Amino acid sequence: MTGTGGSPPRLTERVRHLRAEGAYHVLAQAQALEAEGRDIIHLEVGEPDFLASEEILDAGVEALRAGRARYNPPAGLPNLRDAIAEFAGRQRGLSISPAQVLVSPGAKPNMFFPTLALIDAGDEVIYPDPGFPTYAAMIGVAGGQGVPVPVVEERGFSFDLEAFDRALSDRTRLIILNSPANPTGGVIPLEDLEHIAQAVRRLGAWVVSDEIYTRITFEGGVAPSIASLPEMQERTVIVDGFSKTYAMSGWRLGYGIMPEALARQVELLLTHAYGCTAEFTQWAAVEALQGSQARVTAMVAEYRRRRDLVVKRLNAMPGVTCREPQGAFYVFPNVTRLGQAVETLADGILREAGVALLPGTAFGANGEGYWRLSYATSMENLEKAMDRLDQYLRARP
Ligand code: PMP
Repeated sequence: MTGTGGSPPRLTERVRHLRAEGAYHVLAQAQALEAEGRDIIHLEVGEPDFLASEEILDAGVEALRAGRARYNPPAGLPNLRDAIAEFAGRQRGLSISPAQVLVSPGAKPNMFFPTLALIDAGDEVIYPDPGFPTYAAMIGVAGGQGVPVPVVEERGFSFDLEAFDRALSDRTRLIILNSPANPTGGVIPLEDLEHIAQAVRRLGAWVVSDEIYTRITFEGGVAPSIASLPEMQERTVIVDGFSKTYAMSGWRLGYGIMPEALARQVELLLTHAYGCTAEFTQWAAVEALQGSQARVTAMVAEYRRRRDLVVKRLNAMPGVTCREPQGAFYVFPNVTRLGQAVETLADGILREAGVALLPGTAFGANGEGYWRLSYATSMENLEKAMDRLDQYLRARP
């Protein structure tokens, strides 16, 4: 089993529960088929297909040429922390000090480390199901007790609030929110955020609010943030970044905004875990925030065109119904009427129709009956994928 022989390591409870992210798993299967010469359309990976803007690319390359690729402060470059505090504060109607900002390689460390800093063994953490798989993973590593709460189609994929209330206990220490959401494209409405905030205040709990898709919305501007509600900024970690909004996924750049006392402790954690974030990418991020935002607007308009196409086409397929998602770049169609487990269906579609998509169960047990399709790919690819899917479903016995 091991390349060097010997017995396998005795793994800790802390890591034994970890599983691969579904998207990477299906991507590997799709790539194996491609290696055999098959033509596969990729709707499994949640990553913008655009290049970062010319201005961002130039800023990154110039910084690299100027030798700005050194160790730098663990919390991030002062210029970038200033720019983030100003931009993120203006966007959410909050006053944010640069001392509250931590830059990280991608948004993920700014969810993982605050969770490690806030959760002790046995503390309960509420998280959305279906939801981004990293949430359950990081709760487990922190030794917390994950409490999945369903987000439901009939509420636009916001929480089932009765189930949410039932999940609360005096051991609830943290609530993880994601709006707009992966995998559903759902946006949590302000009234629901108010309901959740009341519980958080009453219990003295905390919120990790994953807002990485906050600017990719199709109705009414940015999605509301729970941090903007009274007394909530002091108990919320806002997580955001550059991967989605600026199409910079592989640059690895994200940030967290949190109360200063927590930020100082998380800063120590990230210092010892990865030292600091690459420097030249941070200069590119300053340009992203301070330069023209026209390209972001144009990308969101393009996502909207793609969403409209995919929703229309899916709803015309036998056994499929698809709500119009309000944000992110995913659709989460209901395929319960096809009468088969979604994993089996997704596997058949990959092998026989050449379309890679994810079963909803890759995001939690409540994803049964759904698929997740990412429409962060060209209109041409989407048209072709919808043709193949339609044909496949019509040919089923
Ligand atoms: N949160 C959500 C909901 C995501 O979908 C993703 C990316 N798939 C991330 C966080 C991670 O972002 P990053 O690549 O910047 O770490």
